[in-house]
Amino acid sequence: MGWVAISENSKETGLEKKPISLPPLGRDDVLIQVQACGICHSDLHLIDNDWGVSRYPFAPGHEIVGKVVAKGMGAPDELKLGTVVGIGWQRGSCGKCENCLSGRDNLCPYSEATCVSHDGGFADAHVSHWQYVFPLPEFLQRPEAAPLFCGGGTVYSPLREFLPNKYSRVGIIGLGGLGHMAVLFASEMGHEVTVFSHSPEKEKEARSLGAHRFVNSTSEAELKKNRGYYDLILNTAFADLPFKAYAKLLRADGTLAFVGVPPSALGISANDLLGSRARVAASPIISRFRMMEMLEFCAVNQILPKTEVFPMDEVNQAITKLRKNQVHYRAVLVNS
Ligand code: NAP
Ligand code: ZN
Repeated sequence: MGWVAISENSKETGLEKKPISLPPLGRDDVLIQVQACGICHSDLHLIDNDWGVSRYPFAPGHEIVGKVVAKGMGAPDELKLGTVVGIGWQRGSCGKCENCLSGRDNLCPYSEATCVSHDGGFADAHVSHWQYVFPLPEFLQRPEAAPLFCGGGTVYSPLREFLPNKYSRVGIIGLGGLGHMAVLFASEMGHEVTVFSHSPEKEKEARSLGAHRFVNSTSEAELKKNRGYYDLILNTAFADLPFKAYAKLLRADGTLAFVGVPPSALGISANDLLGSRARVAASPIISRFRMMEMLEFCAVNQILPKTEVFPMDEVNQAITKLRKNQVHYRAVLVNS
């Protein structure tokens, strides 16, 4: 069974519980009994067809934790029956292009997504290629680890790729699913962390997650106080925000990086970047190599996302809460 978006109308009518047909188990595939699945805002973008790529009907969900229950002959020995594993946004890559061959398979032009043209993890079972099925260290063998597989990886990757390898000043725009994991990671890495949030009531929790500073982003005057300060500002929000003003908060060689994608052009000119030799960048998900590094980082430092757990049957209530920006800070669905 799966929880399925039937059409763009599912935005209003909600997902429906329906039988889904799993693909036949191929030589390199692994069949997973789904135990838990996080709800990423990308699932909402897919349900609403915001990106024009949705293929209805489909079950969303791409932050899966579950158990291996069957596997093809080509799957490696370490994926034994009963192994607890996780699966994220990516389900395939070509394995041959220069990006795959250089450990940047998240940039593969032939990348396949877990719940685009496939059924995802809002279901009781899921089939994926073994290369994108990650065994979980013991500490992470629980539903709360599910959000690491999309949201977590998506913010871990730019923190590793875009920062100089030293103590840095990091700003995180938006304290939601991705943003709160960015705060957990960046503070554990030893950086100074500022949260830019349009929800002032989140300040106390932001600090308890590890943020050192909190800026109410609705105030342009508050933003301006931080000019020339940051090595990296990571945008996790999906709204059109004053990015020209954020670009001016970068210090020399700083980076304004986008993982949340606003709908409109950014409105930043070369002149806004020139004086500080700053950069604007964007980053999709995470490579397999970095995913394994992140899982180890979380296990060693005992980092878990802050989650609200819902029974899978309450998926529509959880989605409504996420649409209202009321989840603290990632909703996770669990099968009973
Ligand atoms: P989320 O849990 O809904 O969090 C988004 C946060 O953005 C909110 O909590 C809010 O933080 C801020 N925000 C929302 N509306 C805003 C507005 N009108 N003005 C200012 N800030 C606003 O979403 P998520 O799951 O973290 O996903 C965030 C975005 O990342 C989505 O667009 C998703 O598709 C994208 N994404 C990208 C990748 C990638 O590979 N690049 C991967 C996963 C997700 P405050 O209340 O603190 O302001
Ligand atoms: Zn996602």
